[in-house]
Amino acid sequence: MSERPPSGTGTTADDSFQAWASHGQPADPVASILLVDDRPANLLALEAALAPLGHRIVTAASGEAALRCISSEDFAVVLLDVHMPIMDGFETAALIKEQKRSRHTPIIFLTAQDDSNDVVANAYRNGGVDFLTKPLNLDAVRSKVTVFVDLFVLSGRVERQRYFLQALLESLQTAIVACDADGNVTTYNGAVREFFGLPKRPVPPERWSEHYCLYEADGTTALAPSAAPLARALAGEHIQAIAMVIAPHTGRARTVLVTGQPITDAAGGKLGAVVSMHDITARRAAEQAAAESFTELLRSNKELEQFAYVASHDLQEPLRMVSSYTQLLARRYKGKLDADADEFIAFAVDGVVRMQRLINDLLAYARIGSDGGEITPVDSGAALDKAIANLSAVIRDNNAAISRTVMPVVPADPAQLAQLFQNLLSNALKFRREEPPKIAISAELTDARWHFTVRDSGIGIEPTYFDRIFVIFQRLHTRDKYAGTGIGLSICKKIVERHRGAIWLESEVGAGSTFHFALPAGDQR
Ligand code: ADP
Repeated sequence: MSERPPSGTGTTADDSFQAWASHGQPADPVASILLVDDRPANLLALEAALAPLGHRIVTAASGEAALRCISSEDFAVVLLDVHMPIMDGFETAALIKEQKRSRHTPIIFLTAQDDSNDVVANAYRNGGVDFLTKPLNLDAVRSKVTVFVDLFVLSGRVERQRYFLQALLESLQTAIVACDADGNVTTYNGAVREFFGLPKRPVPPERWSEHYCLYEADGTTALAPSAAPLARALAGEHIQAIAMVIAPHTGRARTVLVTGQPITDAAGGKLGAVVSMHDITARRAAEQAAAESFTELLRSNKELEQFAYVASHDLQEPLRMVSSYTQLLARRYKGKLDADADEFIAFAVDGVVRMQRLINDLLAYARIGSDGGEITPVDSGAALDKAIANLSAVIRDNNAAISRTVMPVVPADPAQLAQLFQNLLSNALKFRREEPPKIAISAELTDARWHFTVRDSGIGIEPTYFDRIFVIFQRLHTRDKYAGTGIGLSICKKIVERHRGAIWLESEVGAGSTFHFALPAGDQR
């Protein structure tokens, strides 16, 4: 069973009852009291004494009448006169106890003062829970009745809670099994029945081990009973682990996320343990499929990169040949053939030069992944200096003004960081407006990333093209207007992604563009 660190605390019986209480409860049923006495005056006096308690009171003048009442209604308590003609209180009590409905209904016998001790003893033997001696002390009557009514109301509540919890457990697809402090399984839901192929009838505690069997996550080894989650949770462990359940009849194997914890009362006393098993077979399969496609994607990306590299590298040689011979043709035959021939040769030379440039760019692009250097702490200011130095002639020719904030040390490939700055700066210089370009470079630490910006005062870009310009060979202008092959930004994107960063832009046509890129800052301590 593979382990994960436990989380959360134990569920105490108190927690669940509080959760229950805080969500409100269905209204308690009305508590009814049955008074049985053959003397109408006694019944009247008792009824009057109990009326202030506000419960429903039913009276019966004989044992037979009492039994009729009992058969159609649940009573919180029965006050039963012992001395009645035809059927006395004890006989009546015996018949009350015979009925399933009233088997547990508490009976308080009403005895006479001169009754012997035998009568009192008989009252208990005949299922009475208490007795009251006539003449009755009405305060005592009220107080005893109140105790039994409260008990009735409470046990009604507990019963209803049991139904609610049962329905709740049954509605879950997660298998839940709980045991008492001795390890005997006391509760389980339908999902457990399904997971473990349990019979419909309840499983006796001694036969649980035949059914309740979990396997290691790979499904090969059955866990020993002492290593089973329920036993470990009972021993006080908080468990979160992956295991496998194999239904014996169908052979269906499920990978389950098992959580287990002890159940304790508010004082920390051990009441038992609960284990839940959530079927994660589908999730696992999806994760595995995703991991496999990711590996496949990495592999095919690598292959594609290799292909681009090999193709662009190997194309260079024949292209050099075509290039030198078209140039030779141009030199040797210019003006010697007709005007059309001169033009055609010029087109061919131009085409070859362009193709060479494209292939070189493609090679540079392919090399970012394969020829990338080590990622080490780099002074981004030095990388920027290098880019500026490489572009110094263009900067001078354009009369450009470049400003910058303090630049940080970042984990990066030094050559690629310089290349990134150079491509962005070269675009900022190239896509300028009439007035001399103004370029500002900044760096700021946000959310564990160094956030760089390169802001220019150039022609700007329409937002619809924000994604497209990062795609290889995509350009927004013709060659005669702005030179280039459309590789610069795709190289920037590839560099940033190799550093696990992000690149994006903001721009407004005619108002300049700001290119943003963020790189993980690494350990800043
Ligand atoms: P290239 O510069 O060779 O065209 P890039 O990939 O660097 O290729 O840029 C792609 C396109 O994005 C450019 O053709 C241009 O239209 C637009 N672009 C890039 N940078 C800027 C910028 N700073 N200002 C305006 N447009 C830009």
